[in-house]
Amino acid sequence: MSDQNPVFIPGPTNIPDRLRRAMQVQTQDHRSPAFVNTLAPVLEGCKTVFGTTVGQIITFPASGTGGWEAAITNTLSPGDKVLVARYGMFSHRWIDMCQRHGLSVEIIECAWGSGAPADRFEEALKADNGHAIKAVLVTHNETATGVRSDIAAVRRAIQEADHPALLMVDCVSSLASMPFEMDKWGVDIAVSGSQKGFMLNTGMAILAVSPKALATMERAQLPRTFFDFRDMMSANGKGGFPYTPPLQLIYGMAESLDMLFEEGLDNVYARHTRLAEGVRRAVSGWGLRLVAQSPDLYSDTVSAVYVPEGFDSNALTEHAFANYGVSFGVGLGEMNGRAFRIGHLGSLTATMVLSGLATLEMAMADLKYPVRLGSGVIAAQEYYRATAKSTLTER
Ligand code: PLP
Repeated sequence: MSDQNPVFIPGPTNIPDRLRRAMQVQTQDHRSPAFVNTLAPVLEGCKTVFGTTVGQIITFPASGTGGWEAAITNTLSPGDKVLVARYGMFSHRWIDMCQRHGLSVEIIECAWGSGAPADRFEEALKADNGHAIKAVLVTHNETATGVRSDIAAVRRAIQEADHPALLMVDCVSSLASMPFEMDKWGVDIAVSGSQKGFMLNTGMAILAVSPKALATMERAQLPRTFFDFRDMMSANGKGGFPYTPPLQLIYGMAESLDMLFEEGLDNVYARHTRLAEGVRRAVSGWGLRLVAQSPDLYSDTVSAVYVPEGFDSNALTEHAFANYGVSFGVGLGEMNGRAFRIGHLGSLTATMVLSGLATLEMAMADLKYPVRLGSGVIAAQEYYRATAKSTLTER
């Protein structure tokens, strides 16, 4: 019966019944004139979530990784230099992709648990007198470590250096759960996916692209076919798709946007902050430590938690799944065996989070962690009680 339990992995997230129903629809001909009424409102709605009025929304049938590839291949040429900081598994994977595409990658190595180093970006950009660096790549929310980076600070660093590099941001595990302000932060390409904050299954890479990034498209020499912005934009402009679209997922996205706007984006963000804070209090209650190095870096969608010395985080996640049917995120890369992750994003309530925390406590008790049963749950309960709001309307 483990499929009755919510998952606490940081994506893909729990899919609300309303979205599952919205996707249970018969095929529509994507070459019919009706298709434009399905896709266009979705592209428009996404703009609001990305915080852009000038950006172009481009979606491909792919996961977030496909979104990364689309971002770099449509704007860069072989040998172009990009500046990237490595502070977790996802920043690492984007670096790897750039290298495999023949880009020259200037890497700023940072401790896992830290965030994007705006000051070091500024230094590197100021040293780049010839403007060889064509793009700065940043992971907004490093899902491996539970770290949120300050994108506005990175944009300020680019401005301070008076550098023309594009700013590309991975917001796969933050969009639609934490504030994202593409226009305000001066982001040129933002990359996300359908399976996290949008609460859907995987299958839509969603990008928002600034006019400045679009202007590089014709010059960019990296090969692309499936991910060519030009084909997609041209087909979308005529109300169509250059190949078969993931139709049911697009229906799901329309409904997801309705759900997000009905709740109100600010309320969605506040809910994530509240749920995350309860989790953080539970972690303190257990006497454990977050991987994120300081409160300004805490992610509201995922918390990575170090296990005590001598314990194996993989044994904990395996035990929780095997004995209680509940999934938590494993430690990735450098964190493998050392930390587990609690995903707290998407379709989730305080009550659901409490069930996850209680499950973790049981698993930790079974494995003889020095953690008192109830110590984390009570800390979260107290916080959720103190911050609960009545949903009954006044009569
Ligand atoms: N970037 C971040 C921050 C992620 O969390 C993930 C996936 O978890 C990805 C990129 C890769 O996305 P996908 O697995 O959808 O290809």
